[in-house]
Amino acid sequence: MEKDTLDPWGEGHITNYERLHQEFGIERLDSLLPTIKKPSLHMRRKIDFGHRDLGRIFEAVDKDKPFAVMSGIKPSGDFHLGTKMTADDMIYFQSLSKRATVYYCIADVEAYNDNGLSFAESSKTAVRNVADILALGLDPERAVVYKQSEEVRVMRLSTIFSSSVTNNMLKAIYGERQIGLYLSALIQIGDILMPQLAEFGGPKPVVVPVGADQDPHIRLARDLANTYKEDFRFVPPSAVFHRLNRGLDGSPKMSKRTPGSSFSLNDQPAVAGKTVMSAFTGGRASIEEQRKLGGEADKCPVYDLYLFHFAVEDDYAKRVYDECYDGTRMCGDCKKELAALVKKYLEDHRKRRESMMKDAEELLKTSRKRLAAIAS
Ligand code: SF4
Repeated sequence: MEKDTLDPWGEGHITNYERLHQEFGIERLDSLLPTIKKPSLHMRRKIDFGHRDLGRIFEAVDKDKPFAVMSGIKPSGDFHLGTKMTADDMIYFQSLSKRATVYYCIADVEAYNDNGLSFAESSKTAVRNVADILALGLDPERAVVYKQSEEVRVMRLSTIFSSSVTNNMLKAIYGERQIGLYLSALIQIGDILMPQLAEFGGPKPVVVPVGADQDPHIRLARDLANTYKEDFRFVPPSAVFHRLNRGLDGSPKMSKRTPGSSFSLNDQPAVAGKTVMSAFTGGRASIEEQRKLGGEADKCPVYDLYLFHFAVEDDYAKRVYDECYDGTRMCGDCKKELAALVKKYLEDHRKRRESMMKDAEELLKTSRKRLAAIAS
């Protein structure tokens, strides 16, 4: 069997999440969950399965201490369901405390290195991406949005870090890559650790919500936080990991690069509905067999969409699951029901997002001014 890989830039193939605990030391969320007062939808539904030092964040919440929530987006296209998951987690952590500040990075250097996108193209997409996260519920009053290429502190940190990483270290974590990707990894570590610089209030817990395939960046960030502890007093960043959305075409991971595997939040609702209707399922070969044996929601990317995104109530997600397994739910009807939910969601999101475009431009502008003022 092909071995699962954790490739932050690729079509990461994760079939065995258990292995990530054993091989990479990702802690189980299950053991922390009973202590979390208000678990997120992803936590309750076991979509978030692992973490690194997440207890530190809930301790900051309980003690009313400042903490940061850090993540970003590569501006290579509109929000898709994977970016929505990370955004949902960021908004959740921001909602836990008035002392939480979100740092949202527009990874335009990575888009340049990985996708060959010009900074001008990235800039345009960035406005739409910021409008998306605002439409999902981010509070702009406690958010700092910046472009990697413009943030001199991130560049400075990555240059400093480059003096203590060797080619062999990077090869061991990321495999053999072009220098540009190694460099963008170091820049991402700069992003993750920047909120702890003195000008942002100094060392503090930082949580990075990510897909499991991004763990290589988290490991490197934690290693470097320890390496530079004396100079910067960094607290090793915390992370919470979510499972990856399986592709609707039956591929192991949704990808913007694979048509039919996903849809963006800004696709025409009718087009997204069609993608749902042609999705791979965990259904049986015939209706008779499905009635007799039930479907397999655990193997079904259509069920993933209910669970991860569109069944807002826990009871509803459970009902879909139970009806699938007891053979009373047929795949055609199940997809139709989901397609209707998706269409409605996309219509509503489109309206919210359009109403946020000006605010997005404003947030990018004010953040830029704020960051420039801190730098001078
Ligand atoms: S009934 Fe629904 S959840 Fe079950 S396998 Fe079919 S599409 Fe998937």
